[in-house]
Amino acid sequence: MKNVLAGVAGWPVAHSLSPRMHGFWLQENRIAGAYVALPVRRHSLSRTLESLQGAGFKGVNLTLPHKEAGYALAHTADAAAHACRAANLLLFQGLQIQAYNTDAEGLALSLLDSLDRKAKQIERAVILGAGGAARAAVLACDRLSVGQVFVLNRTGVRADTLVRTVQASVKARLSAQAWAAWQSLAPETGLLINATAAGLDGTASPQISLERLPVGAAVCDLVYSPLETPLLSRSRASGLIAIDGLGMLMHQGALAFELLFGTRPQVSAALRAHLEQTLHDGA
Ligand code: NAP
Repeated sequence: MKNVLAGVAGWPVAHSLSPRMHGFWLQENRIAGAYVALPVRRHSLSRTLESLQGAGFKGVNLTLPHKEAGYALAHTADAAAHACRAANLLLFQGLQIQAYNTDAEGLALSLLDSLDRKAKQIERAVILGAGGAARAAVLACDRLSVGQVFVLNRTGVRADTLVRTVQASVKARLSAQAWAAWQSLAPETGLLINATAAGLDGTASPQISLERLPVGAAVCDLVYSPLETPLLSRSRASGLIAIDGLGMLMHQGALAFELLFGTRPQVSAALRAHLEQTLHDGA
């Protein structure tokens, strides 16, 4: 079988767990191929994509800061990429570029894993943040049939824009609110998702009180480095369900792996242990 080449483009990209994760699956599934980290500066994406196509790559995952630019450069897009105006995967078909966004479905699968039947009973979700991850989180909530989704962002105008652009793609009722609205929203909130970069690599987690959340509510932090963020520690200490960002990472990766290498890999305890060890070692 032909060697399949793929990778992840970002800047910086050295910290990305994707090469480890895809390498684990390539080995586990005995697939001849390679998945490499590609350090690509913001202004070099278009040129790099041409080179990768020329070098015979099947496709490339995108991480910061390329998700929106990658979507804009593609010739076609799946529904999630279109709704998010951002892609985390580009596939090359001859000279054509196809954009995909597996982040939304990846998060939905992670929430379903952790919450099981409870996932379908959530009436209200609150999402902190209004970037690409927050857009994916809105779609994930919609996929779980959450009725009402509130988007709170430090820069209010970005939350307004998110709601305006994504509302047409989802059934859930979306509403942009100021941070200050949290205190009144909390008592009816079944799911809180931190989709901000706050808490990443030791920065302060969102300073948000969890006291008024109802019993049985879940808190999901998309940040996975560190895995146990202060927000998740506080959630556990309050008896809430705490869901880390590694589940989303693994599920979005599994969907991308299938599109790249033709086999749906397992999101297993062994993979999680491998990635947790990698995070622990700081590799
Ligand atoms: P992005 O497009 O750059 O958006 C960043 C968001 O974080 C913005 O809403 C920004 O608010 C907010 N923010 C940044 N620092 C903040 C702070 N100190 N306090 C409050 N808000 C702050 O980034 P993104 O792609 O959406 O990624 C967001 C997070 O999700 C990152 O931590 C990323 O690692 C994580 N993520 C995880 C996965 C996974 O698989 N687990 C996948 C994708 C992303 P302003 O608009 O006010 O600047």
